[in-house]
Amino acid sequence: MGKRYNILQIIAESGGEQVAYCEVIVEIAHEQVDRVFTYRVPQGLVLQPGTRVLVPFGPRKVEGYVIRLLSQTDLPEARIKDVLSALEGYPALLPHMMELALWIRDRSHCPLVEALRLMIPAQMRGGRIRERTQAWYALSDGIEDIDACVESQRRAPKRQRILRALQGGPLSGELLAQQVGEPGEALRALCEQGLVERYTEEVLRRPYAEMELRAIQDPPLTEEQQRVLAEIYPALEGGEGRFLLHGVTGSGKTEVYIRAVRRCLQRGKTAIVLVPEIALTPQMVEWFRSRFGQEGAVLHSRLTPGQRFDEWRRVRRGEARVVIGARSAVFAPTEDLGLIIVDEEHETTYLSDRTPRYDAREVAANRCDREEATLILASATPGMGSFARALEGDMTLLEMPNRVLGRPMPSVQLVDMREELRGGNKSIFSGALMEALRDCMRRGEQAMLFINRRGYNTFVKCRECGYVVKCAQCDISMTYHQASQIMRCHYCGAQKEPPQTCPACSGVSIRYFGAGTQMVEEAVKKAFPGIPALRMDNDTTRSRDAHYDLLSRFGKGEARILIGTQMIAKGLDFPNVTLVGVVAADSTLNLPDYRAAERTFQLVTQVAGRAGRAQAPGQVVVQTYEPDHYCIQAASRQDYRAFFAEEMTFRRRLAYPPYAALCRLLIESPDEDTARHTLQALQGQMEAFFHRHPGLRGQVLMEEATEAPVKLIRGKFRYQLFYKLAGKPAEETLQKLSELSRIDWQRAQVYAEVNPVSMM
Ligand code: ADP
Ligand code: ZN
Repeated sequence: MGKRYNILQIIAESGGEQVAYCEVIVEIAHEQVDRVFTYRVPQGLVLQPGTRVLVPFGPRKVEGYVIRLLSQTDLPEARIKDVLSALEGYPALLPHMMELALWIRDRSHCPLVEALRLMIPAQMRGGRIRERTQAWYALSDGIEDIDACVESQRRAPKRQRILRALQGGPLSGELLAQQVGEPGEALRALCEQGLVERYTEEVLRRPYAEMELRAIQDPPLTEEQQRVLAEIYPALEGGEGRFLLHGVTGSGKTEVYIRAVRRCLQRGKTAIVLVPEIALTPQMVEWFRSRFGQEGAVLHSRLTPGQRFDEWRRVRRGEARVVIGARSAVFAPTEDLGLIIVDEEHETTYLSDRTPRYDAREVAANRCDREEATLILASATPGMGSFARALEGDMTLLEMPNRVLGRPMPSVQLVDMREELRGGNKSIFSGALMEALRDCMRRGEQAMLFINRRGYNTFVKCRECGYVVKCAQCDISMTYHQASQIMRCHYCGAQKEPPQTCPACSGVSIRYFGAGTQMVEEAVKKAFPGIPALRMDNDTTRSRDAHYDLLSRFGKGEARILIGTQMIAKGLDFPNVTLVGVVAADSTLNLPDYRAAERTFQLVTQVAGRAGRAQAPGQVVVQTYEPDHYCIQAASRQDYRAFFAEEMTFRRRLAYPPYAALCRLLIESPDEDTARHTLQALQGQMEAFFHRHPGLRGQVLMEEATEAPVKLIRGKFRYQLFYKLAGKPAEETLQKLSELSRIDWQRAQVYAEVNPVSMM
């Protein structure tokens, strides 16, 4: 077996000698304090590497992380201060997590403390969250004759009732109150007499505690599932293996995850399952909890801080050995990691857009290398980069080309909306979709309607002069929300009354264009009065449990039609859904982004995959203005390989990733001149850099200093220095870009981005 990380071992390594000092990284994210500071460990304080401590720092007291223990130091004694206290009785950071933080620091060029912060729940910092405890009561050990004891309290009937209640075993204060009503006074007296003992115990705040669990029996595996697992099991044994699992929608990937995780647990190891947006997929949590029970922990951002803290500690203490969660769960404090699974690996939610920026898939791969674990990336529509790597042999490709139990792929019908228009149909539903919906409702089944935009109309425009109403803060067209009869900016939330006349030409032909979820909902209500429908988008899911509520209502059949944005595209498995309608497949295709075709293919394929997942066959109607586009064509056949081939040709021809990298320095400033000047300064710096490194300039295919595609967001002007770099960009170039972004550019913010999720 390879190297195991073990805290005790590290302590032993740091010398049986007297620990006298420690090196600490303080909780201040600033370049100038991005180094360790040495403190004295006072007598009697037991510290380990990874323990969080409170230390004096200048006039302040700050939190910090112990990085290393020392038996001696060269620093003058007089200059060294004492550690004030340990914040927890255990190291919050495991040794391998500290190494991971170092790696992230090097990769994203951030202060170490920013990387360390990723490893613990945010609310642990500053002591904003604590353990919750509960009082318990028990009969004292000394009591031998309970009847005599009760008799001794003859004149206090309540005390007698308490003693009798505790005869059956310890009770929490809460339960005791239920049984005897207001026990306070009597209880205190019994404790004082030494007849009852009080103690406190931790109460864990568990998410989804009230979720009903169905007992699920393991289905016999399909042939494809067996074949795939036959490759995964030996890798788990060996603590190795990088897999890309490409399985069509409904091929039963989840069951593969379950079996792999279980094998991992049997071997005494732990596992992490990443899902793109777990808050949106309560179904995922449900299967997970019914299969793994107490062994499983759930980590994501919609948990309360208390729940997150408690789940994190259950993992840290080894009580929960499987973690399911969103992006940040890749930092779960598991020991003896055996497996990381990344479900829907193509999703952009795996890229963190806050500093330090990271790609959860890369972090997962790094952890697996370091901790000798198996990595499985899985998707019905793998990202271009991942599939290319698998074809090159960097990962082992596993394929599940068929749905389980011989269920057919849904049949997809493409509807050319140009012809609908020519035929005089101006409504948002084509004749074909209308008819399919009618049939589906008549059969008593359920349907899902997908549209990429929320709101009612996506823009408001003057017919005469072409003026489009934009957000004054953001330079983005505003969306009309009919329920509130107001226009909203989806970037900053600003609101505005729609104009009666055109602000540009004073014309009176202000019109509303583009369909959003609200419009689809209204059209459904009009066409199917009496049939209950639900709408799921950012507007209807603001509260903590909204996703869960909406989906479980749909799951129970309380609604027959579910209308939604991307939120309904992935991972959902409703057996009664036999019809899926894609209302406007082109809305993503026309985005000014080189990934528009990939995104469209993924969305249409994934949405279509929601249909016909049980016995009844599925039908999909895709409405589009570009029925001949290769991404629409391939999606309609669920033909990933065909799409991949065409798309790679396109990417190679235009030198887009994975053949090149798109990097930019994005400048934001409330003052346009400042933004422009900063851009010039940055350009000068890069010019000088390339002058010193002519070899690196050879990678530059294109350089552009311009306004960003969206020039104004939230009142900030945006400019960019954009580079297209051939192949894999040189580390020095990335380092330089990152360095420039960290300089204090007065009145302007600079961000360094490499292949960012959004190029706006
Ligand atoms: P995917 O994630 O690949 O789209 P799922 O894992 O959601 O597909 O599986 C699709 C459906 O098939 C689910 O309803 C699941 O319960 C069912 N299923 C998976 N494996 C089996 C099996 N071996 N036997 C019977 N049903 C299965
Ligand atoms: Zn705005």
